Amino acid sequence: MTDTDKKQLFGTNGVRGIVGELMTPEFVMKVGLALGSIRPGTIAVGRDTRTSGPAFVSAVKAGLMAVGCDVVDCGVLPTPALQYLVKTNPSYHAGVVITASHNPREYNGVKAIDTDGTEMADAESILIEQRIFTDTYHTATWENIGTERFDPNVVFTYVDSIVSQFPKDLGKGMTVVIDAGCGAAHATTAAILGGLGCRVITLNAHPDGYFPARAPEPSTEGLKPLSDLVLEVKADFGVAHDGDADRCVFVDDKGRFIEENREFALIEDAVCQRDGKSGVIVTPVSSSRIFETIAEKYSSTVEYTMVGSIYVARRMLELIESGTHVIFGGEGNGGLIYPWHQFCRDGGMTAAMMVSLLAQKKQPLFTLVDSLPPSYMLTYKYKTDKAPEILAALRAAFANELLNDIDGLRIDRDDCWALVRPSGTEPIVRLYVESPSLEIAEQFSAEVKAVFESLI
Ligand code: MG
Repeated sequence: MTDTDKKQLFGTNGVRGIVGELMTPEFVMKVGLALGSIRPGTIAVGRDTRTSGPAFVSAVKAGLMAVGCDVVDCGVLPTPALQYLVKTNPSYHAGVVITASHNPREYNGVKAIDTDGTEMADAESILIEQRIFTDTYHTATWENIGTERFDPNVVFTYVDSIVSQFPKDLGKGMTVVIDAGCGAAHATTAAILGGLGCRVITLNAHPDGYFPARAPEPSTEGLKPLSDLVLEVKADFGVAHDGDADRCVFVDDKGRFIEENREFALIEDAVCQRDGKSGVIVTPVSSSRIFETIAEKYSSTVEYTMVGSIYVARRMLELIESGTHVIFGGEGNGGLIYPWHQFCRDGGMTAAMMVSLLAQKKQPLFTLVDSLPPSYMLTYKYKTDKAPEILAALRAAFANELLNDIDGLRIDRDDCWALVRPSGTEPIVRLYVESPSLEIAEQFSAEVKAVFESLI
């Protein structure tokens, strides 16, 4: 990849930045002008609950309409709800979501959605950037300016699209606590789980861009009130989302936060069992090896991609096009992708899948979590601009081992693996090490660090 092929503004999840710094109405309008110039037609627009959302939605709509696009404003909704709308409705030529996902409240961002519901590919993000850098837009004359209309019903269509996939009263007898974190899922996940027959108790279920209860990132500390309430009301599980609800995380019936790789493994098991055929599970190269253990149980395999849900989704589509049976995909951060539903992370669908999992396995969630194989994942972060030198040194030091360089360098041994991966957007290198034994994970970490720490 040369420098001119690289994205400069767009990361793996669109453009994100601090409001008033990178993220200004002028900049967001330019994204609208550029996107509309390469995608003429009808564009769906939505947002999460951030304070800056209304201003930036107005700005992106102004840009889109100025180049002749018709916009449909879908209001506040989870990112996967807008992705579902664009994917299932051929009258849309693209979508835009004003969101900064899990980032702190001072951030916002713009995410462009393709007609198949996936995040826009790198090649097209680069075209958008080139137009912004050169200020080149197809500005429309007065009679060709786009129109605007509002569609507040998209969230209901999205909720129905999930509920209708499961047997009626699937969740009957289950009590669930939902912490929407004042984000985009403030109404949808309660409607989905209520629609499945669960008794639903909500926390932080009002939209509030100040995020007064917890940060948009659902962390163990931020979810303490959720854990406490799960225990207090003896719920079957607790569920929480990030700010735009493409990710979903869980608390078990003992009030314990379920680490997201283990969440993936639990749902992978349920999806494979339900599917009944052997096939492929797609996930980034940074994911836990437990995914392979579960896949083997169902005579299936795991295929690794670059880190980023867009790469997982697009690989799933490619495999399906080539005739491969793809069962499941996603990332080890609560962003799970269900190929029969849509090719993007879907937090509402993941919440529903937990109900399906418990109904299928007929065991309390804590026993299912505890029956997963042991795994210790250690992660380290280094501030450095020496990524090429670090990777070269590792390649030389571990030349005789099983290496995968799809994204950074992964070294696989029988009882452990390590991934050293430079960030795409910052001068940072991350090290991930995983093993079923904490001692082995620590030993291997020390061995890998010894190769490159002197270079930093
Ligand atoms: Mg998100």
